[in-house]
Amino acid sequence: MPAPKTITKAAPAPATPAQASLYQQLRGHLTALKLHDAAEALPAVLDAAAAEGLTLTAALERLFSIEVSATEARRLAGRLRFASLPTGATLEDFDYDAAAAVDPKLIAELATCRYLANATNVLLIGPPGLGKTHLAVGLARKAAETGYRAYFTTAADLAARCHRAAIEGRWATTMRFFNGPGLLVIDELGYLPLPAEAASALFQVISQRYLKTSIILTSNRGVGSWGEILGDTTVAAALLDRLLHRSVVLTLDGDSYRLRDHHARADALRATTTGTRHPLR
Ligand code: ADP
Ligand code: MG
Repeated sequence: MPAPKTITKAAPAPATPAQASLYQQLRGHLTALKLHDAAEALPAVLDAAAAEGLTLTAALERLFSIEVSATEARRLAGRLRFASLPTGATLEDFDYDAAAAVDPKLIAELATCRYLANATNVLLIGPPGLGKTHLAVGLARKAAETGYRAYFTTAADLAARCHRAAIEGRWATTMRFFNGPGLLVIDELGYLPLPAEAASALFQVISQRYLKTSIILTSNRGVGSWGEILGDTTVAAALLDRLLHRSVVLTLDGDSYRLRDHHARADALRATTTGTRHPLR
């Protein structure tokens, strides 16, 4: 009989009633230990063991590796659910030809997640449409895949949640929540000016993670104008001090990826109407 590739629920035909009861007991043990995937795979693995003449060690290894793989897949799915990533963006589908300012070697280094081990922060700075959120999502996904708890939020959402928490008397719980993940992504700092209270919440989140866990922060404003965003140059300086102390700063520039097709179409149209491909952006 060929080794079954798919796991069937059919129990192997037991030779004797004693063997049948032993099989049921074994299955019962696996279920009692909540090793449901192993319990389900048991008949197929026993069949394969008999057909391929597997040693006891090899058969047990095969059975438990099924449970381990299923457990790892469940944990990864859980980490990805928790991460709340807003898009399906991955580092693999990032187009470096369209982002001359992004060094593929640096992204490859970040993709190893080693920066998370020593609580290095990553700042992605640049105008809209250049792939800051894409890279942040891709890095958070990698972190989750590597086994880290990652959590994605926006500066506005973080501010709103801290505001609600303060009103509802859940400040400490909320601070603990933002302190928990090994990687916290704070997207879009600077799109909206933050009220003083939000700036101090952001400062507290950054301070309590300082030198312990990493933050990826994206902003369309250079750090020089963060005093304006945060409405307070002292808070901005203290916040930047902690954020930049151990950090990688990626400054993106160039054309918006979102508008690339639009520009290409406009150039092509201009070329047909004027005979030039002069970029009149
Ligand atoms: P930003 O956060 O800098 O405003 P986004 O990351 O939201 O920009 O990018 C805008 C859109 O363009 C997204 O759909 C993103 O996936 C895509 N994009 C941007 N840059 C690239 C790139 N270099 N390769 C692939 N897709 C990109
Ligand atoms: Mg963005």
